[in-house]
Amino acid sequence: MAVHAHPDDESSKGAATTARYAAEGHEVLVVTLTGGERGDILNPAMNIPGILDRISDVRREEMAEAAKALGVRQTWLGFVDSGLPEGDPLPPLPEGCFALVPLDEATEALVKVVREFKPHVITTYDEMGGYPHPDHIMCHKVSAAAFDAAGDPERFPDAGEPWTPLKLYYNHGFSLARLELFAEEYERIGEPFPMQDWMDRMRKYAAERGDIMARVTTQVECAKYFPQRDDALRAHATQIDPNGAFFAIPLEMQQRLWPTEEFELAQTRVRTAIPETDLFAGIEDADEEAPR
Ligand SMILES: [Zn+2]
Repeated sequence: MAVHAHPDDESSKGAATTARYAAEGHEVLVVTLTGGERGDILNPAMNIPGILDRISDVRREEMAEAAKALGVRQTWLGFVDSGLPEGDPLPPLPEGCFALVPLDEATEALVKVVREFKPHVITTYDEMGGYPHPDHIMCHKVSAAAFDAAGDPERFPDAGEPWTPLKLYYNHGFSLARLELFAEEYERIGEPFPMQDWMDRMRKYAAERGDIMARVTTQVECAKYFPQRDDALRAHATQIDPNGAFFAIPLEMQQRLWPTEEFELAQTRVRTAIPETDLFAGIEDADEEAPR
């Protein structure tokens, strides 16, 4: 179960991993916590009359296309996008938005889906949200709380039969080390690096907090599924510019130099050895487990 804040996050964080596990016969469910109603139109080609008026519907259609591209199931939790507050001082969060929902209320909604779907593994964001969007930070809190509560019969007794998920991971896709490797390759072939701005921003971030690779416990080989990831990204046409940074590095180069996606094992209820190459490591016979 991959828990994400907005439609499109599932395609930019751990997407190829979900496509791989789905292709290998695992049941994969993306849970999208909000409808993405406050997302700006980030693709100039989609900034056309009629789109913004029906942005909620548009984002649902885009999400359905992306899930199809990844081969995964997807469900909505129905909370309302908080938007990314900008300005100095930051404006208050809009009334009724996801980041202002009481934690227990949001947790119960996710616990209900966990108890229905019965995942062995849950992925989400780290305590910083991966990036500081209030919905991403809330996504972390709600996922961690649901991971703790889902198996406890005393918690949320109206949200279904208890189910204990076994491992909780954080997505860590955006690492400086990865961009530096690509930059070196561009230098070697004597071409300008198309993600220089992005790399500069990440250098600044890494100087303050260290590169996220220091937290990575698990690298999942999934290069074969990068094309599906890119199709899913492109399905979010209002959010992802097909001429933007996500597609700046040729697929072949990504597959050759960095064929994995990165995760941090945050909690586990099974024994496993770090580093791992499989989110299901330590979970015995997950494929064969017959429903009882
Ligand atoms: Zn997001």
